[in-house]
Amino acid sequence: MDRHILGAKQFDRSGLESILSAARAMEQVARSGGSQLLAGKIMASLFFEPSTRTRFSFESAMTRLGGQVISTENASQFSSAIKGETLEDTIRVISSYADVIVMRHYEIGAAARAAHVSTVPILNAGDGAGEHPTQALLDLYTIEKELGSIDGISIAMVGDLTYGRTVHSLAYVLANFRDVTIWFTAPENTPIPQTVKEYLDEKGVRYYEESDLRQVAERVDVLYQTRVQKERFPSQEEYEKAAGRYIVDKELMDRMKRTSIVMHPLPRAGEITPECDADPRAAYFRQAENGVYVRMALLAQALGENQAKE
Ligand code: ASP
Repeated sequence: MDRHILGAKQFDRSGLESILSAARAMEQVARSGGSQLLAGKIMASLFFEPSTRTRFSFESAMTRLGGQVISTENASQFSSAIKGETLEDTIRVISSYADVIVMRHYEIGAAARAAHVSTVPILNAGDGAGEHPTQALLDLYTIEKELGSIDGISIAMVGDLTYGRTVHSLAYVLANFRDVTIWFTAPENTPIPQTVKEYLDEKGVRYYEESDLRQVAERVDVLYQTRVQKERFPSQEEYEKAAGRYIVDKELMDRMKRTSIVMHPLPRAGEITPECDADPRAAYFRQAENGVYVRMALLAQALGENQAKE
C-alpha cells in the first residue's frame, strides 16, 4: 500500500475494504470520545484553494485521534508561495515540520509533484480539476452505510463532470466493485472526460451517458449531484451554459425509488433545493459527517497506526 494518497486508481478492492472497515472502527472511536492513537504526531494542512469540509474534517480527525495540527487555510496568500517559492521547496520544508501533509492545490498533478520531494505522506485533498481521492473513499463509506452494499448499485453522476474532480475519483474507485452501473448526466459542455471512460472500459464497468435526468432518477440507487465549478470555466459564457441545467428538487425526488439516496460532495450552489433536505433519502449531510471517520482511518494508516485502539 502506497503511503501517499494521490489518486483513486491506486486502490484495489482489498485496500478499499480495509479502509472501509477501519473507518467503521474509527466511527466507534469518535462516538466514544476519541483516542490518543496519534498523540505526538503532527498533521500539516496546506490548502491553496478554499475548503470547508475537507480541511475541517481532516483537522477534526487528527484532533480526535490525539494528534496536533498546523495549518494554513489560504496557502496561496499566506505561505511563501506569494513570494515565489516553488511548491517543491514549500513541501520539502513542511515535511520536516510535520508527519503527514494534507494538501489541496489548483493544479492537476500537484499532489504527485509534492510526493516526489516529500519525506512524509502526502494526502491529496483535491488537485484542480483532477481528483479528490479521499472524497471518493468517504463517498464509498456513505454508500455502504446507507445501502448496505456497493456491489450491484446503479449510480447517476450529475452536473459538471468535466471540472468536478470528485466524480472522477468516485468512478475510479467504483471500478473495483461488481456489477456497478454508472449514468453520466452532464450539460453538453461539461461531459465526463474521455480518460475516465477509457478507464471504465478497461475495467469492464457498465456506463451510459444520458441527458434526461428525469429518466435516470427513476432507475438509480444513488443520485450523486455536483456543483458546476464556476471557478474553472474559461469564460462566464461557458459557465452559464452549464449552470442551472440540472436541479434536484422535490418533484425529481418524487420520481426516485423509495430506497434510493441523494448525495453531493458539497458545497451546493442551488443544484439541490433546500426543500429536499427533510427527505430521509437526502444523504449529503450524513455524507459530510462520514468524512471525519474515513479521514481518521486514512491518517492512522498514513502514520502506520492501523489499529483503532483506545
Ligand atoms: N468540495 C468538493 C471539491 O473540493 C466539491 C466542490 O467544490 O464542488 O471538489
